[in-house]
Amino acid sequence: MNNPHQTDVLIVGAGPIGLLTALTLTELGISVTIIDEEGQRAKHSYATALHPRSLRLLDRLGLSSEIESRGKHVTTVGFYDSSQQGREIDYSKLEGDFNSLVVLPQNELESVLRHKLSEKSVFVDWHHRLRRFKPEESKVESEIEELSMTSLGYVVQRFEWTVHRTHHLQSAFVIGCDGMHSLLRRQLAFDWHSASSAEHYAIFEFQSHQPICNDTTVILDESTKNVLWPLGNNRYRWSFQIPASEISDSPTTGLQPVFMIGKHVFPGVSRDLLFELLNDRVPWCKENIADIDWSLLAEFHTGVTTSYGAGRCWLAGDAAHLHSPIGIQGMNLGLVEADDFARKIAAILKDGIPLSTLQQYNDERLAEVKDLLGLTARVEPAAQSPSWAPPNPERLLSCIPATGSDLAGLIEQLGFQISRTG
Ligand SMILES: Cc1cc2nc3c(=O)[nH]c(=O)nc-3n(C[C@H](O)[C@H](O)[C@H](O)COP(=O)(O)OP(=O)(O)OC[C@H]3O[C@@H](n4cnc5c(N)ncnc54)[C@H](O)[C@@H]3O)c2cc1C
Repeated sequence: MNNPHQTDVLIVGAGPIGLLTALTLTELGISVTIIDEEGQRAKHSYATALHPRSLRLLDRLGLSSEIESRGKHVTTVGFYDSSQQGREIDYSKLEGDFNSLVVLPQNELESVLRHKLSEKSVFVDWHHRLRRFKPEESKVESEIEELSMTSLGYVVQRFEWTVHRTHHLQSAFVIGCDGMHSLLRRQLAFDWHSASSAEHYAIFEFQSHQPICNDTTVILDESTKNVLWPLGNNRYRWSFQIPASEISDSPTTGLQPVFMIGKHVFPGVSRDLLFELLNDRVPWCKENIADIDWSLLAEFHTGVTTSYGAGRCWLAGDAAHLHSPIGIQGMNLGLVEADDFARKIAAILKDGIPLSTLQQYNDERLAEVKDLLGLTARVEPAAQSPSWAPPNPERLLSCIPATGSDLAGLIEQLGFQISRTG
């Protein structure tokens, strides 16, 4: 480990949220230790776009030009129903700087963040797993296991990750950016509030022979949400929602095992299924698909923790909330949290602001996530009723790639507004 005994903030998890927390704290002069139980991150796009709000905070870290130069700008998102009727939202009408989306694979964002951290001599301690932690009045004592590959078996050799050594680390704060199965959340005994039942998506990233589109297209039919993202250089990504009934009942979805990402197993999906879905859901879209780079079936849960933390132990990102994937809201909101948390912690550690200000982090974060998940807010037609509405327009809340005031402005362009119910 970088510093085996003491650090200001222990960050658990080196996904995008842990990395941004580490970078923001480092920029603010706070020492960090960032650990991850894996040996490296998967090399896939996953959350594939950065919202304007994320670009604004990355700009404060001097990263916006590198991100913009690596990514692809998207300024409009078209929303259509199954009869190809629809409307577009235009990001260039948003106020302020950075009024577009930047499509950038998640692994590239992570690599930009890691590189910037390495320039500050901060490196991820890979293969380090938080085992347990003990919050006290003025510090947190954490037990961290260093993992190493051990050869087992005699006749047939096999390998397994085992605990090589255990470290004890003292920190002023611990933040769990440790993903949906967060150990921190579970050990803090926070309940989970599910917002809806799990959604399944068949995801295909492919190369096309010819350009298909420059902008993002969302198709909202009666029962499914679907999105096409242009990734640049004639590469695209379709995510098609697969109704739960088809997952459990029908072997014809073309599911083929198995795709491993870290410790998680995803069923594969076939090229035939892609053509079937295109035919059924977007028959007007005649794609000329060359190669499929990767494809799988992923399950997405939606929900939120009952608390973001207490005392010296806090959560951010997927550890605290999960979203439907269409609007790429989970990762982008996690980045906002990382920035907010880091700035509050720096004010506590450097300027003597009271610890109780973290209650504000809890209250504001919970309120925003609950609105976004439709638990305390709903979508309704604006004063002048919209000339076009998709079936179940409340789905717009999770499908527009934006959060905060940008989301409110973009939803208005479609003739709807968000009103709070709780
Ligand atoms: C196949 C796939 C497709 C996706 N598509 C989309 C999409 O289209 N749109 C969208 O919005 N989102 C999508 N996502 C979700 C998106 O990737 C997540 O929202 C994002 O990664 C969350 O970042 P995070 O940093 O909070 O957590 P994560 O990226 O999950 O990182 C958590 C890290 O914590 C580490 N960790 C966990 N426990 C411990 C421990 N005890 N000790 C040390 N380390 C630990 C893990 O190894 C992991 O590296 C997709 C995800 C997958 C897997």
